[in-house]
Amino acid sequence: MNNGSLIEKYNVPGPRYTSYPTVPFWKNNDLSESQWLETIHQNRMAFNSNELSLYIHLPFCESLCTFCGCHKRITKNHNVEEPYIDTLIKEWNLYNEQVFHDDYRIKELHFGGGTPTFFTPDELIRLLQGLFKTDSIDPEKCELSFEAHPGNTSIEHLDKLYRFGFRRLSLGIQDYNEEIQKAIHRIQSFEQVKEVHEAARKMGYTSISHDLVFGLPKQTLEHINFTIDQTLRLMPDRISLYSYAHVPWIKGVGQRGFSEADLPKDEEKRALYETAKLKLEAAGYIEIGMDHFALAHDPLAIALRNKTLHRNFMGYTTQYTDLLIGLGMSAISDSWFGFAQNDKTVESYQETVNSGKIPVFRGHILTKTDLIIRKCILDLMCHFETNINEISDDSVKQKIIDDLSELESDGLVIISKDVVSVPERGIPFVRNICMCFDQYLSERTTTNLFSKTI
Ligand code: SF4
Repeated sequence: MNNGSLIEKYNVPGPRYTSYPTVPFWKNNDLSESQWLETIHQNRMAFNSNELSLYIHLPFCESLCTFCGCHKRITKNHNVEEPYIDTLIKEWNLYNEQVFHDDYRIKELHFGGGTPTFFTPDELIRLLQGLFKTDSIDPEKCELSFEAHPGNTSIEHLDKLYRFGFRRLSLGIQDYNEEIQKAIHRIQSFEQVKEVHEAARKMGYTSISHDLVFGLPKQTLEHINFTIDQTLRLMPDRISLYSYAHVPWIKGVGQRGFSEADLPKDEEKRALYETAKLKLEAAGYIEIGMDHFALAHDPLAIALRNKTLHRNFMGYTTQYTDLLIGLGMSAISDSWFGFAQNDKTVESYQETVNSGKIPVFRGHILTKTDLIIRKCILDLMCHFETNINEISDDSVKQKIIDDLSELESDGLVIISKDVVSVPERGIPFVRNICMCFDQYLSERTTTNLFSKTI
């Protein structure tokens, strides 16, 4: 079967597997604070470690990008900054008082959004001082990173965050073509990106990432070639090349700013990725997982070589911790044994924290089978290989093998004894392969839960 026919056959709605089970199949819709904290205790006992990762969700943006799939709040009112930062600090203090009792080591912190650079540098530093109880952090001991909007990231942001210990930033770019930028309502010039990129480089940031998107409305091969050429003028250490996830039925009006007829069709969309990939590889980038690229010196490429790459709600990461605490409105936490999501509006999030409660409102406690399948899916997403020998339930194992058989006969997966591996040709279909492991997908009553896999 040629590539075009394979794409047509397998381009079906499916999860991106930043978690397993995926959010629509979580079972604890009324997860209590104590149930959630119990899974953190279980984590600390099981792994005998006090290390953790922190994800901080900073949800405000001044204007709406019409391709956006994030939890955000659009506002030009900057009076929201101070109470929101106060609440984040309070939320962290609740965790510390109830679980950690000052016995923790933050190995990784990421500011995501929304637009973290919506906040003034001073508010961000106040947050960091509140979390770490210090004025700076040794970047060797904790990897600090933030998402930066080229349109509002100032020299002061770069400077103050660098002095605190940040060495990584990712610049949200998407595409350099003006017509596409208008369609997605995200206007920024190459000069703006260049200015922030070069200032960060000069200051000493060691890992600069550019976030691009393929499959955007009106995007053609010519556009992706142009965007990659512009990107290569700056040679960022990492590039994320995300697939545009078209899910307007989930994300509401934000994704209705253009017509569906403007979107590249299945095979055209995959050609955009493959074209970009060829160019990036020719320029020395290494493909990491499904949608990342890194230069050989970058820790992400080193983690791939050393087989220590990890994937969590923040995407691919080099810092393996078994505990991720997400702070902020809608943030998701992961204790390996459970997932929990915070209240989804700014108001309810602030109200719950201010009443002295950790603001989780739903989640999932993983079963024994969930934990094994979770590990298999993580291995496949990070290393394109997994061993199914730990799946002790023979009927579950047999069903996975049966479900994989079609992909196997199409040459997209190899099963040898208990090892399932993905050959080069199968990499674009890795989400479909993971779907064969997913024990919850059969519960679907609608196909409208996810974007398409390819
Ligand atoms: S893409 Fe980023 S900046 Fe644009 S609306 Fe979404 S969160 Fe805000």
